Amino acid sequence: MAKQAPQSDPAQDAPEVSAPQQAAAGLPAVGHSLRMAAEQMGARRTLATLLKVNQPDGFDCPGCAWPEPGKTHTAEFCENGAKAVAEEATERRIRAEFFAAHPVAELAERSGYWLGQQGRLTQPMLLDEGATHYTPVSWDDAFALIAEELHALDTPDAAAFYTSGRTSNEAAFAYQLFARRLGTNNLPDCSNMCHESSGSALTETLGVGKGSVSLKDLYQADLIIVAGQNPGTNHPRMLSALERAKRAGATIVSVNPLPEAGLERFKNPQQARGLVGHGTKLTDLFLQIRLGGDLALFRALNRIVLEQDGVDRAFVDEHCHGFEEFDEQARTTDRAEVLAATGLPWEQIEELGRLVLASRKVIVCWAMGLTQHKHAVPTIREAVNFLLLRGNVGRPGAGVCPVRGHSNVQGDRTMGIFERPAAAFLDALGKEFGFEPPRAHGHDAVDTIRAMRDGRVRVFFAMGGNFVAASPDTDVTEAAIRRCRLTVHVSTKLNRSHVVTGARALILPTLGRTDRDVTGTGAQFVSVEDSMGQVHSSRGGLRPPAPGLLSETAIVCRLARTVLGPGDTVPWEDFAADYDTLRDRIARVVPGFEDYNEKVRRPGGFTLPHGPRDSRTFPTATGRANFTVNPLTAPEVPPGRLLLQTLRSHDQYNTTVYGLDDRYRGIKGGRRVVLVNPADAAELGLAEGGFVDLVSEWRDGVERRAPHFRVVHYPVARGGAAAYYPETNVLVPLDSTADISNTPTSKAVVVRFEPDSGAPA
Ligand code: SF4
Repeated sequence: MAKQAPQSDPAQDAPEVSAPQQAAAGLPAVGHSLRMAAEQMGARRTLATLLKVNQPDGFDCPGCAWPEPGKTHTAEFCENGAKAVAEEATERRIRAEFFAAHPVAELAERSGYWLGQQGRLTQPMLLDEGATHYTPVSWDDAFALIAEELHALDTPDAAAFYTSGRTSNEAAFAYQLFARRLGTNNLPDCSNMCHESSGSALTETLGVGKGSVSLKDLYQADLIIVAGQNPGTNHPRMLSALERAKRAGATIVSVNPLPEAGLERFKNPQQARGLVGHGTKLTDLFLQIRLGGDLALFRALNRIVLEQDGVDRAFVDEHCHGFEEFDEQARTTDRAEVLAATGLPWEQIEELGRLVLASRKVIVCWAMGLTQHKHAVPTIREAVNFLLLRGNVGRPGAGVCPVRGHSNVQGDRTMGIFERPAAAFLDALGKEFGFEPPRAHGHDAVDTIRAMRDGRVRVFFAMGGNFVAASPDTDVTEAAIRRCRLTVHVSTKLNRSHVVTGARALILPTLGRTDRDVTGTGAQFVSVEDSMGQVHSSRGGLRPPAPGLLSETAIVCRLARTVLGPGDTVPWEDFAADYDTLRDRIARVVPGFEDYNEKVRRPGGFTLPHGPRDSRTFPTATGRANFTVNPLTAPEVPPGRLLLQTLRSHDQYNTTVYGLDDRYRGIKGGRRVVLVNPADAAELGLAEGGFVDLVSEWRDGVERRAPHFRVVHYPVARGGAAAYYPETNVLVPLDSTADISNTPTSKAVVVRFEPDSGAPA
């Protein structure tokens, strides 16, 4: 029997702290998976769902975007996948009585963890203007209300349509078509806040803003560099791939300001040695780099390769552009600057240089540790320079591997969820549906917050996600949202974005990945694209939490018909009734999706084309792979300050908090902690277990404070500190974004420590 939702909101500032762990997964992961699953779903449902996740005839894990291996295991999920499934397939329910009992003002005082633990939403709810409580509303009335507010706008650009990366391909395509039929490209998405820097750098240098490697490439690599990523928590099944690569002879180098258990050793629960033995040591060389020092590291490695004449000249001459300018600059890379920026001993950099020169097939994997810095785009461009130098693009066992977060964040972008769409996509869309799409670029996530703050966006619609908690500069974002006329959230669970609202607010409960989706024409399935460009189907099998719940696709199609009117020529009703009709249209608009309905029904689905990987063709401005020149920069931190990175605990997925532990880092029962290197703590007078306020410093002189954090002495790289988001997103200035990609610099926030002002209300 599933456990009841917690009534009280547990304190989060009294964690137990013990030594960090040296290995990930193993029997404890199995135990935690089953315990947390049973608490939400009960034993029978736990079994029914966990044996279907990531299976060919099952549903895609609503967690991260790690791909499925060709042949899946009986249990093809990780601990955090089990938690993600349990969160969605929970037996807990939120009904009208809950909202009648809890005024929004009270809910706004509750933690995100408590809100999320209350259960699945079961009916549309309206918070009308001036009301204190959400009350039930019919679907038709909800759509009519949204239409009324949209029609009252003086321009379609006064509305913004946000997408969280869990949205299926089918719903995403219909959603962008609706927004563009309405007349706007205001299609911000969660990618704006995570891998946008990767997309920008890869599109410029290789012509395709996605990773070029497959699982097979990982298994046959000579050298795998994992930079700015913590797969043990954020992409746990990647550890199986690293273990397999390691057993095939690969060398693994991890580059990270924190020693992470998942990169140290993996106890694979699918194998005896993982359950009862020591598992597999993964990392051969750990470079504990300073926050933001990765650009300098790749610059140094490139100088070493050039000076050791390790260049693949044949590849460079045949496929690359801009080598001379790059070569000239790279040879000027200053060792002292590199040492200052990386905080690494030169011997370690040289050792990595030797490994690179001894390797024919090299892969670089990365995540937020590279993408959420001011110089993120130049850093990723320099990593591409590093791979191009020795021809490590378009070679089996080699390539670029940005590891995506949300399970379909890449698919949503492929479907057109992008505020800066390519002209070719708009041409194809306009031709297919007989209209002229808007051409002016829209707002990304940060610009949407600015536009709401300044009253230029008045209606905010979110397809999934928890925009308020995921965004930077919390106080600014919340004030901006409150300036809206209407905020609408299509959601499965309650979160902070439902209690920080516009003058009017709607919650539209939707089906999840685990739920059966039956329409008038029968059972429907959706499709997603993983981090390696594989598109496959996902079929939920559970009875929906309540009758009358609509799928994301049905919500978009009914809304579109209501807003655009009976005269709109798009067959929204057909799309909602039979997703094959939607896929047939996608097949004619999106390259690589020809015969979509046939290909997506194949076991494992299909892999999208990728010119650089498949044929070393580079659809860039030069028609070649572009070397780039990237000035050596690194974050500057004034004396007496540290550079804070926001990160996830092991019991968290993006802003969804599954529990209050961070087992691998030795934190139990609390989240208001700040990890500081003991030597830095001594210099700053920060005692272990003491409480402080974190105050960020930014050129606008605004005081951004996160009160009452327990100091934990932790082996982070000198000069840096770490704390969980969303609690510390309040410290990230809205205008502190990466050049070119406009991604918030959540890994580089200058903070000072002040005496504790006491626990937040
Ligand atoms: S690795 Fe990611 S996709 Fe796979 S089961 Fe875990 S959370 Fe889900």
